[in-house]
Amino acid sequence: MPTELATPAPTAPLSSLEGAQPLQRLIGELQAELPQLEVRVPSALTREYAVDASTRGRLAGIDIGPAVAFPSTAAEVQVIVRTAAELGIAVVPRGAGSGLAGGATADERQLVVSTERLDRVVEVSPLDEVAVVEPGVINADLNRHLEPYGLFYAPDPASWDISSIGGNIATNAGGLRCAKYGVTRESILALDVVLADGALVHVGHRSIKGVTGLDLVSLFVGSEGILGIVVAATVRLRPIPVARRTVSAFFATTAAGADALAAITRSTVRPSVVEFFDSRTLANIDAHSGSTLTARGGALLLIELDGYGIDEQSADLRAALEAVGGLVTEESVEDGEALWELRRSGRGFDPAEWFAGGDIAVPKSRIPEIFAHFPVVEERFGVTVGAVAHAGDGNLHPVITLRIPEGADPGVVPPQLHDAAVALAEFALELGGTVSGEHGIGSSKLGLAALELSERSREAQHAIKRALDPAALFNPGKAI
Ligand SMILES: Cc1cc2nc3c(=O)[nH]c(=O)nc-3n(C[C@H](O)[C@H](O)[C@H](O)COP(=O)(O)OP(=O)(O)OC[C@H]3O[C@@H](n4cnc5c(N)ncnc54)[C@H](O)[C@@H]3O)c2cc1C
Repeated sequence: MPTELATPAPTAPLSSLEGAQPLQRLIGELQAELPQLEVRVPSALTREYAVDASTRGRLAGIDIGPAVAFPSTAAEVQVIVRTAAELGIAVVPRGAGSGLAGGATADERQLVVSTERLDRVVEVSPLDEVAVVEPGVINADLNRHLEPYGLFYAPDPASWDISSIGGNIATNAGGLRCAKYGVTRESILALDVVLADGALVHVGHRSIKGVTGLDLVSLFVGSEGILGIVVAATVRLRPIPVARRTVSAFFATTAAGADALAAITRSTVRPSVVEFFDSRTLANIDAHSGSTLTARGGALLLIELDGYGIDEQSADLRAALEAVGGLVTEESVEDGEALWELRRSGRGFDPAEWFAGGDIAVPKSRIPEIFAHFPVVEERFGVTVGAVAHAGDGNLHPVITLRIPEGADPGVVPPQLHDAAVALAEFALELGGTVSGEHGIGSSKLGLAALELSERSREAQHAIKRALDPAALFNPGKAI
C-alpha cells in the first residue's frame, strides 16, 4: 500500500526516555484505581501501537512502543483520561489502526487508548432505524449483526472488515456507497464523547431531525481524535435494498471513461457505487491478479445499482453509457463479486518501484480534468501516475510511482514523488476540490492541509481545540 503523502511527519524522538516517569505514575495509578483494566507498559511488545497502516514501514526504526490501555467501559475511559490529564500525559485514541494518514501514531511517552474492547452493539431499533454501538465495533461486524433485521449501516470504506466504527467516525470515513448514501457524517445521529477533563457528554439526537444548539456531532465527526474520545454512537440504519446489480462499462481510453461520468449524472439513475479505473490501474490489476480487464477496454466504470425497479435502472444506465461509447455488461452475481474483489484488493505494488499515494477529491464534474492532468505531472516530475476513483463523489486515489534505479537505496525516496503529489493536490484545489477526501490529515498531511485552509480558518480550528482541550493532550500534532 502506498504511503499517504506527503509532508514529512513531525517526528518525536522515539528513543528519548524523557517523561517516562509521569507515564509510570499514570500506569501505577490506573492499576490501583482500575485493577481490572489491562494497561501495557511501553515496550517492544507495544510497537504495533506506534503506527497505523500507512506508517507500518517505520516499525523497523522503533524499539519501544507507547503505553496502551484497553478500557471496556466508558467509565474506564473517563478515569484514564482524567488521570492522564492530571499528570500531563498525551492520550492517543485508537480504533483498529487501519488509518492512512498517520492519525493514530504514538510514541513511548504517550498513552494509547485502544477501543478494541469497547466492541458491543448496545441496541438495534428497527422502528427508529438506529443502532447504538460502541466505537470498537468493526464496520463489517455491525453489518453482519444487522442482517437479520433486514437493515444495514451504509458507510462502507474499502477497509470495512478491518476498521472500527469509532475510527470511521473520527476520520469521517467515505466508502464506495457514499455516491448514494453519503459519508459517515450522514449516518451519525448522536455521540457519547469523553472530553479532555474526563467528562462524558452526549451530543446530537436519536431523532432524525434536531437543531438545538451548535451541531457538535458534525464537529466531532472527522476530528481525528484531537477533541475527545468517542465511546458510543447512535448510527442511522437503512433497509437492505430489495435488489443489487453490478454493471460494468468499458471505454477505449481513460479520457473517454472519465467523460462518460457526466452521462450518468445527466441521467435519472443514481447508482449506489460508481468506481472508475484508468488505463494504468487496469494494467496494474491485470499484472498483479492475473485478470484480463485490459482485454475488455482501456478504462472501466464499475457500477452498483440497488433498490426497486432494478431492470429499469439498468436499461436507463445502459442507454446513457452506450450513447457515449461504453461497452456495457450487466454482470452475473459471481462475475460482479469477482470484479468488486479486484477493486478491493486487486492492485499491487511493485517492490522495484517507489510509490506515493493520496486521496484528493474534486467536484465530480471536474474528474475528466484531473485525469487529463496526470500526463502533465508525469512529464514534469518524471514519474507515472494512475488512479482509481470513487467517481460518484469525485474522490481519487492516485498512485505515483518511480522505478528504483539499479544500485539506489530503496529506503531513500526521491523528492519528486512528494513534489508530484503536492502538484496534484494543488491542481485539485484549483478545481474546487480538497487535499483529502476521506483519509484525513493525521500527521502525514499537515503541509497539504496548509495549502487548503486559510489562516483565519486555521485560527478558528485551533481556538476550538483550545476550548475543548486547553492542555493539548488529545492526539497532539495531528489534524490541524
Ligand atoms: C486497505 C484499506 C482500505 C481503506 N479504504 C478506505 C476507504 O475506502 N475510505 C476511507 O475513508 N478510508 C479508508 N481507509 C482508511 C481507514 O481504514 C479509515 O480511515 C478508517 O476510518 C480508520 O478506522 P480505524 O478504526 O482503523 O482507525 P485508526 O486508524 O485506529 O484511527 C484513525 C483516527 O481516528 C482516531 N480515533 C480512532 N478511534 C477513535 C475514537 N473512538 N474516538 C476518537 N478518535 C478516534 C485516531 O486517533 C486516528 O486519528 C482504508 C485503509 C486501508 C488499510
